[in-house]
This record gives sequence, C-alpha cells and structure tokens, in this order.
Amino acid sequence: MKNEQNPSVAPAVYARPNRFEINLDAVAACTRQIRLRLGVDVQFFATLKSNGYGYGVLPVAHTVLRSGADALSLASLEDAIALRQSGIRVPILVYAGVLPSQEVVNAFQEYDLIPTVHNQVVLNEFLRFATKPLEVAVKVDLGSERIGVPFSAAEKFIRNVHSNPMFKVVVVNSHPNVRGGTHSREFLIRQYREMTSLRQSLADLSPQIKWFPMASSKVLRMMGASMRSNAADPGAALFDPLEPAEDSPHPFHALKSRIIEIRTVEEVPFPDEVVFDIRKGMRVGVLPVGYSDNIHRVNAGCVLVAGRRVPILKPASLEYVRIDLSDVPEALVGDEVVIVGQQGSERISPQEVMRVQGAARVVDLALDVGQFIPRVYLSSAGQA
Ligand SMILES: *Cc1c(COP(=O)(O)O)cnc(C)c1O
Repeated sequence: MKNEQNPSVAPAVYARPNRFEINLDAVAACTRQIRLRLGVDVQFFATLKSNGYGYGVLPVAHTVLRSGADALSLASLEDAIALRQSGIRVPILVYAGVLPSQEVVNAFQEYDLIPTVHNQVVLNEFLRFATKPLEVAVKVDLGSERIGVPFSAAEKFIRNVHSNPMFKVVVVNSHPNVRGGTHSREFLIRQYREMTSLRQSLADLSPQIKWFPMASSKVLRMMGASMRSNAADPGAALFDPLEPAEDSPHPFHALKSRIIEIRTVEEVPFPDEVVFDIRKGMRVGVLPVGYSDNIHRVNAGCVLVAGRRVPILKPASLEYVRIDLSDVPEALVGDEVVIVGQQGSERISPQEVMRVQGAARVVDLALDVGQFIPRVYLSSAGQA
C-alpha cells in the first residue's frame, strides 16, 4: 500500500525525521466526486495553485488526471513548465500572475501553455514578444476587486484579441468570489447569467472559443452543478471532499516527527526565565520541528506519543518544540510522534487542528506545513 516518494531536493537519508504524509487515494476520491457532479461532457480543469494547495503539484497532477480531470490550471509558470517536463500533455491554463517578458512569452510558446490575458497592457506585451500564434485565455471580472476585464468591456476585448492573427482565445474564464452572506446565491446567479450571455454573444466567432469555466469549489459547493457551464476549474475541492463521509480518508494523512531528546527537570533556579511553563520533575521531550516549519500553526495543542495525547509546551523555537512527557514514562528518544493523524486508537484530525487554531478552511492546513518538511506520498496505485 505504501509508496514513498520524496520530491524535495535534500536526500531523505539526511533529513530531520519529520514527514508530511499525503494520501493520494483521497485526492483521487475527491476528484471523482467532482467529475460525478460535473457530468461527463464538462471540461474539468483541476486547479493546482500554490504548489497544489501545499500538497505538491507533480504527484497531485498525475493523480487528478488519472481520476477524472481533463486539464490543469495554476498560477505558477515554473510549476506549469515542470508539469510539461514530467510528461503531462493535457491543456494547462496559467492564471494571471507572471508579467510578460521575452523569456516568459517564449516559455508559453515552447511548453504549449495557455497564458491569461487580463488587460490591455498584458495583451500588448504578449503581442510585442510573441514569435508565433498563441492560444490564450481571457479572464473576465464579474464580481468586484478581482483580476480581469470588466464584464461591460469583455465582449469587445475578446473580439479584438481573437481577431488578431497572433492569438486564438480558447478559454474565457471568471472566478466568482462571494463572502457567503445572505446575498451570495443571488450574486452568483447574476455572475452566471452574465457569463452565459457573454458566451452566447461570442457564439458567432470562428474558430469557436472552447471553454468558459467559472465554477470554483465554492460555486460547486453552493450551487451544485447548476453553474457548470461547459467547463469548470475547482481547486480546493480536490483536497476537501464535496461530499464528506465520516470514514472517508483525508488527503492530509499525517504530520509526524520523532523525539530527539528527553530530559527530566531537576531544578528550576529561575522559573520566570524559562519560556514555557516548567516544574520540577517534569519530563520534557524535544521534537526537531519548529516555527520555521510553521509548527505553531499546524498543531492541536497536543501530540500523540505511545498512542496517548501529550501537551505541547508553547512557544516553539525556530527549529524545535517541546512536549510534556511526564505522563508517558516509557517514551524513548527516537519514538514516533504524531502531530496530525492516527496513532494506536487516538487520532488528531486536520479538522481538530483547524478548530484549535481558529482557522476557517481545512484545505489551508497543507499550505501551512513548512517547505522544509518532506512530503511523502501514500497511494495504492503505485508510483504517483
Ligand atoms: C483559485 C482559482 C480557482 C479555483 O478556486 P477554488 O476555490 O480553490 O476551487 C479557479 N479559478 C481561478 C481564476 C482561480 O484563481
């Protein structure tokens, strides 16, 4: 069942004994749920922004493409190039972010990536540097304060781009954003109507614009498939099921470390000079994971040792955090510590961590796991 793969540069043999275990089967299950919700004839762009929401763009990309996604979308041009270099051939849409230069435009051409043209300045720069015709996306802003051509100017802008022999518009997309207040549904429906009317008014173009995605995860969650258009580009829902079941595995499988030091406190000459709550006779364990790994944001106030919950002694330091092992006398240096996940019959779930941290979205937890912690992939499908 276990397939371990470490895409980080440092050889795993030299790494501190920390690991972020990712369950790719759970990502595959989330992807299949999205496909079911969309139906078979909707172009499904799996959005893998921010290094695949912290889960690792390459292994996740291969997993979602095996599990129902048709195409990929993301903001990082570097990641897009890495995806092509790993052999992925499906359409890759690159959202707004990188500013066009000669090198950037060359890369879009060489790696056959779809850039986003979201205003006249960006359009002009692509025109200046392009040496051959490019397939592009136009981002339309249907809400407020979002990137894109305003709805009122969109049709004219898109016609202008499409009629230029250097460009072919293949995607017109929008990313509706609502706060989740009382008018969210109403506002989303209005944005969907605008997108639909834009699509109809561009129907005469030849060649036709292929895809009009606007359903992100929030839209799919709130509106079902009613706003799916002929394409959709959800991201967060790849890592947080649309239809969670009690026993379904979560992509965030575990965060683990090991004890590197155990000391019993013999005397405390200046207790007020000790950064954590200390008392004589306390057994203090040390883990080689600190706030440079964001451990202060990725914990539920306790960890699992020998199948039991033991308190974290706040605050973490740069590379270390202490735990109170007073109630686990059998704990030894080298023992495994579970910060998130299951050990024996005890479990600290990602949801519990987010509750303790007062954070809103469970999907953001993986983004917080520091970049120095190796990602380890679990999958029944073998090599990711
Ligand atoms: C992030 C993003 C998405 C996906 O949003 P989720 O809420 O993660 O599903 C879709 N489209 C655009 C343009 C985005 O930037």
